[in-house]
Amino acid sequence: MGRGIGRFAPSPTGPLHAGSLVAALASWLDARAQGGHWLLRIEDVDTPRCVPGVDQLILQQLAAVGLLPDAPPVWQSQRGDLYAQALARLQQDGWVYGCACSRKEIAQAQAALGLTLQRHGELVYPGTCRAGTQGREARAWRLLSTADRAGIEPLLIDWNDRRLGQQQQRLDSAVGDFVLKRADGLWAYQLAVVVDDAAQGITHVVRGEDLADNTPRQIRLQQLLGLPTPIYLHTPLVLGTNGEKLSKQNGAAALDLADPLHAIRQAAAVLGLRLQSATLAEALAEAVAQWPDALGGMMPSASVSTRKESS
Ligand code: GLU
Repeated sequence: MGRGIGRFAPSPTGPLHAGSLVAALASWLDARAQGGHWLLRIEDVDTPRCVPGVDQLILQQLAAVGLLPDAPPVWQSQRGDLYAQALARLQQDGWVYGCACSRKEIAQAQAALGLTLQRHGELVYPGTCRAGTQGREARAWRLLSTADRAGIEPLLIDWNDRRLGQQQQRLDSAVGDFVLKRADGLWAYQLAVVVDDAAQGITHVVRGEDLADNTPRQIRLQQLLGLPTPIYLHTPLVLGTNGEKLSKQNGAAALDLADPLHAIRQAAAVLGLRLQSATLAEALAEAVAQWPDALGGMMPSASVSTRKESS
């Protein structure tokens, strides 16, 4: 492994909790263990979901557990020009089209085709506006998910995850033409993350397993924009009391900064690391030393639950 550049890219929708600390710690360890750099990016493009002040709180939480970035953080809300340039390039190359459909119309068109495909509450777009918006005003901008600009050839994306192994996804049928700029004018996560990972020179993406499913979309955007594809590692999730990814809704408490060593030990345990040290600095150094051997020992997401801790 060369000297890579890694990043942690939290959305400031709530303070860090035990689950998000796992991804933060893993990305930090991965960068430190290669003698590389670790960067922070605040992903505040989805402004309605962002909570004012939480960005600063997250930076404080990270500092309290000893995870300090090697450069000042960047905020996606200040990088709209870069996303606009990328969208313009994809438009010029004929990969993007305007879409005038409302959610309701998409659901109706799907039903008429006998489809019920859903992806995280997002309907697989049936391609209604591929041939134009029929005089209606374009609300959102979508990327063609086929291998060709005519919208015919299937597109299979293969990728290798350092923990999950070989993965593949049929982008056209499993995901469909996905949104790059939303009807409310906001940039979609997929475009922003790809543009920023490239702009920041990220070579190693380490993040939670819930995001693995986005990777093929991001790889496709990298291909079409002529950007390098980073190496991916998706880390185990900490599950809440309802068996789903830990979130505020299912009982995630904000990190307890009264005991940063405990927080780091717990996050490290999810990554298969057993830390004995008595101080935070020593525990982090111990974790860096163990990291190269950690990949084989990481827990499957399902076995990491807050329920167990409380029993
Ligand atoms: N901002 C995303 C999140 O907090 C993470 C994006 C990424 O790591 O690619 O879920």
